[in-house]
Amino acid sequence: MKRLLDSIVENNKKWTREGNVASYIPELSKVDREHIGICVSTLDGEEYCSGNSELKFTIQSISKIITLMLAIIDNGKKYVFSRVGMEPTEAAFNSIINLEAKNPQKPINPMINAGAIATVSMIAGNDGKETFNRILKFTRKISGNPEININEAVYKSEKETGNRNRALAYFMKSTGVLKGDVEEILDVYFKQCSMEVTCGDLARIGSMLANDGVLPWNGQRVVPRDVARIVKTIMVTCGMYDASGEFAVHIGVPAKSGVGGGILACVTRRMGIGVVGPSLDEKGNSIAGMKVLEELSKEMDLSIF
Ligand code: GLU
Repeated sequence: MKRLLDSIVENNKKWTREGNVASYIPELSKVDREHIGICVSTLDGEEYCSGNSELKFTIQSISKIITLMLAIIDNGKKYVFSRVGMEPTEAAFNSIINLEAKNPQKPINPMINAGAIATVSMIAGNDGKETFNRILKFTRKISGNPEININEAVYKSEKETGNRNRALAYFMKSTGVLKGDVEEILDVYFKQCSMEVTCGDLARIGSMLANDGVLPWNGQRVVPRDVARIVKTIMVTCGMYDASGEFAVHIGVPAKSGVGGGILACVTRRMGIGVVGPSLDEKGNSIAGMKVLEELSKEMDLSIF
């Protein structure tokens, strides 16, 4: 396995030169685009890594699957999906158009920014601080890494410049989707996006999902089976922004990407996968990361379709 990962990383290094690193969050533009890394975490607890797998990067939108799990655990699926939809969209992750044009009362899915901000507003906590601490604690638990923390510089940068997300949130406040203090909810969202992870962390979260909600390394159930199933399904239909269809055709596994360059993927009953490559295509997905996953999927026949 290690040899296979080494050769896949080598074959796909060239892709790190394509595309651009995210710059709309100024701090993200400082990352090195040359990086490429992968970790695979199998259900028997083995971990195989290659390339810049030690690199720390911010989780960004991959955190949306974590907050979706917590929101459903806290409120039940019926309530969560009464307030946020589950349909894919062809609009960009930070688009406001569907909110106004389709259904002002219900963001279209929990993987776009509007839906994710609505989802995080449903997570229990007496205030934003407590809510975020629950998210951080849960992330540490499902990744088996008690050291995960936020990258303060990215958090500040995102908070200072996150006016598009502010617009989405205030729009949703005006239509009654968001209950509670908008700035406090946004602060939790900015913090969850700024959590710093490695490919290994993503691979282990993926392996928990691949194992239907049970941590493979100690047998502890951390997510109900039904919640793991829902999250994986939404990852297939909405996880790769408006490129989810193409990703399903070429790679064919549940996955979630983030503008930090990471992608978390999982193959039920087989493995979790974390990849990183900070340079993104115009839809916000890591170019090298997708190429690495495509080759791995072909080599190991991972597609679920
Ligand atoms: N923090 C980013 C934003 O809200 C997350 C976007 C992403 O990773 O897709 O714009």
